Amino acid sequence: SNSAQRQSNHNTDVNQLKKLKAEPFARRQNFEQHRKSLPIAAVEKVLLEEVRNNDTLIVVGETGSGKTTQLPQYLNNGGYCRDGGIIGITQPRRVAAVTVAKRVAEECGVALGQQVGYAIRFEDVTSRSTRIKYMTDGLLLREALLDSYLSKYSVIIVDEAHERTVHTDVLLGLLKTVQKTRSQGVSDAVNIDHREAKNGMLLEKHNGSEVASILKQCQGKKLSPLKIIIMSASLDARVFSEYFGGARAVHVQGRQYPVDILYTRQPETDYIDATLITIFQIHMEEGPGDILVFLTGQEEIESVERLVHERLPQLSESKRKLLTFPIFSSLPSEKQMKVFMPAPVGFRKVILATNIAETSVTIPGIKYVIDPGMVKVRTYEASTGIEPLIIIKTSKAQALQRSGRAGREGPGKCYRLYPESEFDKLKDSTTPEIKRCNLSNVILHLKALGIDDIIGFDFIEQPDRIAIIKSMELLFLLGALTEESKLSDPVGQKMARLPLDPIYSKALIIASQFNCLEEMLIVVAMLSVESIFYAPREKLEESRIALKSFASPQGDHLTLLNENFINSRSVKHARDIHSQIRRNAEQMGFHVTSCGDDLLPLRRCLAASFFLNAALKQPDGTYRALSSGLTVQIHPSSVLFRMKPDCIIFDELVRTNHNYIRNISRIDYLWLAELAPQCYALQE
Ligand code: ADP
Ligand code: MG
Repeated sequence: SNSAQRQSNHNTDVNQLKKLKAEPFARRQNFEQHRKSLPIAAVEKVLLEEVRNNDTLIVVGETGSGKTTQLPQYLNNGGYCRDGGIIGITQPRRVAAVTVAKRVAEECGVALGQQVGYAIRFEDVTSRSTRIKYMTDGLLLREALLDSYLSKYSVIIVDEAHERTVHTDVLLGLLKTVQKTRSQGVSDAVNIDHREAKNGMLLEKHNGSEVASILKQCQGKKLSPLKIIIMSASLDARVFSEYFGGARAVHVQGRQYPVDILYTRQPETDYIDATLITIFQIHMEEGPGDILVFLTGQEEIESVERLVHERLPQLSESKRKLLTFPIFSSLPSEKQMKVFMPAPVGFRKVILATNIAETSVTIPGIKYVIDPGMVKVRTYEASTGIEPLIIIKTSKAQALQRSGRAGREGPGKCYRLYPESEFDKLKDSTTPEIKRCNLSNVILHLKALGIDDIIGFDFIEQPDRIAIIKSMELLFLLGALTEESKLSDPVGQKMARLPLDPIYSKALIIASQFNCLEEMLIVVAMLSVESIFYAPREKLEESRIALKSFASPQGDHLTLLNENFINSRSVKHARDIHSQIRRNAEQMGFHVTSCGDDLLPLRRCLAASFFLNAALKQPDGTYRALSSGLTVQIHPSSVLFRMKPDCIIFDELVRTNHNYIRNISRIDYLWLAELAPQCYALQE
């Protein structure tokens, strides 16, 4: 009866949606009802009261209880945007920032970018009237470079704090300092401004009017205290509370229906295949309700999507009503929203998601969850300095979050594609990212904020000393740090200003000197998106032949310049990034000139920036990565896969059953000693 009821709800939803297009007023009312029905609505007054009484508050609640969409609206109604203050909400993921902002703008009945907006790297949809601003945690960190007190924010909500991304951890440390400074009031603020004025770098970064406005803010009025709210879906608020000196935690009671957990009898050898079988099994045998599948990344998602569509025609006509919707971080925003639309009557939605759907976004209508139990993470091996993306088993906490998604609106089922005995062996929770990543960006950032003592910084969890030292070494080799571990001028300071990985920033800085910045901007933009080349699993060979027709014998980077519109989605995204970083570069006074048809300078620039990723061919056709000593192989997707030049640089190391390197360019061995003598002094 429950499923029947859901079905009828579903139908009314669709009918309502149709009607509402013509009747915005009715739609508004509908939102009103929805908002009142959320679990968080019951504690609106309590929450406002707690925020009033506590400068730092921790809010813990089940996914879907309304934390992300509602709390900022409550605070706005509660007067926290008076005097032009902004409520900032940070998300670890871009998709979440975008989709949630859209949703809240709709709920408030305002155009996106007006009172409610979002800002993510390479995209700013806010205006002077924006009062509720969703953004990535990384973006807020960048804003701190321009405004060290984050003075325009009255409240900052750090959402999804349980994810413990490296940006979240650094942000928490920074906010702690900012809060202290701001509560000390006006006289101190002016002092700090002196310090800032002395710090030439920070001042240089403000353009004239910004400096003036910051000075005015500091001198003209007392800086208002900063309210910090940390939101988390994990029930364990202790670590945050301790870090903020015993801050209070409020628990929002969620609504959770029972979820049946099903395990496989044997371990699966191919979880993609097992996923497909399970999707169709649910579709054929189970009642109505949408399916949410957790996969590890874009490639897996696109391949499962294709396989589902290939198998659909084999079903009887009446059973073909299955729709797939992908959602992953680099999906363009216009496609991201589709996942929230109810399926047409009689259709079943299959949502193919990365771990973004664990807690960051709540998709209504899910009754079935398929969890292969895997997740893709970046890791850092301090011993080799490499940072491979690897696919590992989820933690218990992640598995529980995933299964929880099936019980939001009624009883559900979760299919874990591994045996029950395996669950017991999983780690309790995920290791914070700061413990397993290259810290060069963090260090660059902290140094640019004037925080020189990295090892002494008050992190919520201290990163490994060796990782800090290794990352400092990398920055030193790239010329960003001086021998005294200070930010160098101008390389380090320019690098801190570019919203890119240090190696990419270095590539742009060098290219501007070698008159090939025009080309390097394209290369870096292309490297910043997932592959622009479309290579389905089943048609790998054909796609490779197609690629050959425009491949550059010099390698993948130069092939990217030949820009064929293959995966138009990625190409469009790359274009957006390109125009943004081009603007950045121009603002910083770089000269965007082209090297024309002679691409030699471009390859030399690649050598001069990617020299830590140089590799030499060995007699057996594999390569030895020079700085790590690892044996690596050219990924089959590379245009140099068969050519195998003697000396190459690469962009990325992907660890599957082999150490694969991707995005490769041919270079001359002698360039290394010439262009990176700090690393490769020639032996006499
Ligand atoms: P939390 O942050 O506590 O996980 P949210 O505020 O994100 O919860 O979501 C609250 C509810 O709002 C969800 O359960 C869902 O029903 C609804 N919701 C959120 N975002 C959207 C959206 N983009 N489209 C439709 N419904 C949404
Ligand atoms: Mg949320």
